[in-house]
Amino acid sequence: MDLSYNAEYEQFRTTVAEFLKGHWPVPAEIAEQPRHKQEAWFRTQAIENGYLYRSVPKEFGGSEQEADILKATIIREEFSKVRAPMEAPGIGNMMLVPTLLECGTQAQKERFVSKTLTGEYKWAQGYSEPNAGSDLASLRTRAELRDGPEGQQWVINGQKIWSTLAQYADYMFVLARTEPDAGKHAGISYLLIDLKQPGITIRPIKQVTGGTEFCEVFFDDACTPADWIVGQRGDGWKVSKSTLKHERSSIGGAQTSVNLFEKLLQLAKETTLNGQPAIKDPIIRDRLVTLEGYVQSHLYSNYRQLSMAAAKQNSGYVGLMNKLINTNIGHEVAALAKDLLGENLLYMPPTKGRATGPEKWLNQLMGSLGVAIAGGTSNIQRNIIAERGLGLPRESGDT
Ligand SMILES: Cc1cc2nc3c(=O)[nH]c(=O)nc-3n(C[C@H](O)[C@H](O)[C@H](O)COP(=O)(O)OP(=O)(O)OC[C@H]3O[C@@H](n4cnc5c(N)ncnc54)[C@H](O)[C@@H]3O)c2cc1C
Repeated sequence: MDLSYNAEYEQFRTTVAEFLKGHWPVPAEIAEQPRHKQEAWFRTQAIENGYLYRSVPKEFGGSEQEADILKATIIREEFSKVRAPMEAPGIGNMMLVPTLLECGTQAQKERFVSKTLTGEYKWAQGYSEPNAGSDLASLRTRAELRDGPEGQQWVINGQKIWSTLAQYADYMFVLARTEPDAGKHAGISYLLIDLKQPGITIRPIKQVTGGTEFCEVFFDDACTPADWIVGQRGDGWKVSKSTLKHERSSIGGAQTSVNLFEKLLQLAKETTLNGQPAIKDPIIRDRLVTLEGYVQSHLYSNYRQLSMAAAKQNSGYVGLMNKLINTNIGHEVAALAKDLLGENLLYMPPTKGRATGPEKWLNQLMGSLGVAIAGGTSNIQRNIIAERGLGLPRESGDT
């Protein structure tokens, strides 16, 4: 493991820091505008200087830079020091854009990529169904090519569930069964669908926190043009697994765990237990030290992966462990915070928007259960580590 950067990269860091000095916070004339316009202005400058959307070609609104994981890491470190905006968040940016760049047609890229990057088009992900979550290839939503008023079109029937923020989205990327006679995985295609049409009903689901972050989505003869399929018919399984190969700007998110643990330490200092700050209590100290061990291991595992990636080595099963470790730490930190604050925390009313008081720990506790499930549950992560990382036999039933 090599934790130092060479002179060329240190020079790059200085250049990034100088750019930030001149652009964030934004200059006075821009600072008068609303926050989202300030961010949009800043992102445009950052793209022009090659700091954001580095793997996206210029013709689609990116900065088209050579893949360099160390540069990407330096940019992230310097931007986060001054809290400058990074790439706009959202399922479209994180999941659809890389997939289209890798597997989409030129027409699909032109139609969707830049408007997704700027946030004009918002996307939802339509994978899970009531009986197809971990076993996603059992999905039953079906799509058939039929004649429509403007040529052939896909007609979609079925139901998706847990679609994050679908009530606010314009489009959805959907896995649907188009080849009913083919095998479980081979019969699936990846379709893009306009959500604003009569054949689609979106019902938000009320969560334990009081919020409504995800939805059920019903398709009753919903339509989409024949050429809004990404990849070939029956290739949807492969397309859905495609990831951005150029520059993985985030390996595992250990920094999130570090930041969360620091907040927990602060809470332990401020909370009184048996007439003294909780951080002096031996049992609490013991739990804190154990947790810190996990956080530091996660952090140094990330450094190791970064060194390996820079040396063009495959991090193997170590890289497969990130999600499981990150979400476990998130849950354990929140569980200790709950014990410090007492069970009354559970009676607090749900908060709308960003929580700032003790209730933020309630959100963390509930949210940590969600992120451990989303994108593949902890058990599924363990299966992946065992089968793909350690080479253990595959589960029966897998094809
Ligand atoms: C916050 C959040 C956001 C989400 N957003 C989206 C979204 O935008 N779009 C979308 O399509 N989906 C979304 N999902 C759904 C998510 O992908 C599924 O919930 C997840 O894949 C698990 O599927 P399931 O809920 O059907 O649980 P199940 O698959 O029924 O699993 C139930 C339990 O059985 C265990 N289990 C299942 N199979 C195995 C196995 N083979 N080996 C060992 N244990 C197993 C699981 O670990 C789990 O504990 C979201 C979920 C959450 C929590």
